[in-house]
Amino acid sequence: MTNTDSSHATILILEDDPDIAKLICGSLAEYGFRCEHVGTGRALLDRARRAAPELCIVDLGLPDMDGMQVVRELQEGSPCAVLILTGRNDVTDRVLGLELGADDYIVKPFEPRELVARVRSILRRYQRATPVETTTTERSLARFSDWQFDKGRHALLSPDQREINLSAAEAGLLLTLLERPNRILSREQLLGERDIDPFDRSIDVRISRLRRKLEDDPHDPKLIKTVYGAGYLFSAQVSWE
Ligand code: CA
Repeated sequence: MTNTDSSHATILILEDDPDIAKLICGSLAEYGFRCEHVGTGRALLDRARRAAPELCIVDLGLPDMDGMQVVRELQEGSPCAVLILTGRNDVTDRVLGLELGADDYIVKPFEPRELVARVRSILRRYQRATPVETTTTERSLARFSDWQFDKGRHALLSPDQREINLSAAEAGLLLTLLERPNRILSREQLLGERDIDPFDRSIDVRISRLRRKLEDDPHDPKLIKTVYGAGYLFSAQVSWE
């Protein structure tokens, strides 16, 4: 079961423990992923600025800065997929990491095969959400309730023409909603192919971030409605051009 597309992806690994770094790189290299390792947050941010990687695997406890700050700065620059791999098993960290735009969160000690499976799943979702160069025949601009979303550029434009920054995960989620408006979508459908833990709340975290960016009141959402026990529904007329 090889995925040639994602196997050629460049993965940056930020880990200050050389033994763990070796284990991560070794596990991924075995499945054909190209990995580069850095030991400090600054080095990762510098490296990511030079050429955007497909995915960064980020440790939180680092010698020079907190890993959460690294995730935040990565999302402010050119957003790439982020997997947090940390010894911190705290729900606050987990929620904060996902709120900052991380795509997944794994707690050490980790099972190398599980790491590979999660990496593949993130890259698949990311590649699906990142369309190749849009052609003139492809309809790539969605309009809904005075908002616009350009799926080629991941650009969300507010009714007063402000460009809103979306992480790769949020853009992928918005695209899924826009492609199937006015239909109930389960958490599984919104997450895509990933094998999910039914108690995984990360989709709810992502929905709440997206609501905030769409200025959708979480207590009385007009656009992304919660359908209790079933999932979510995007309630708007969507036109594509
Ligand atoms: Ca560490």
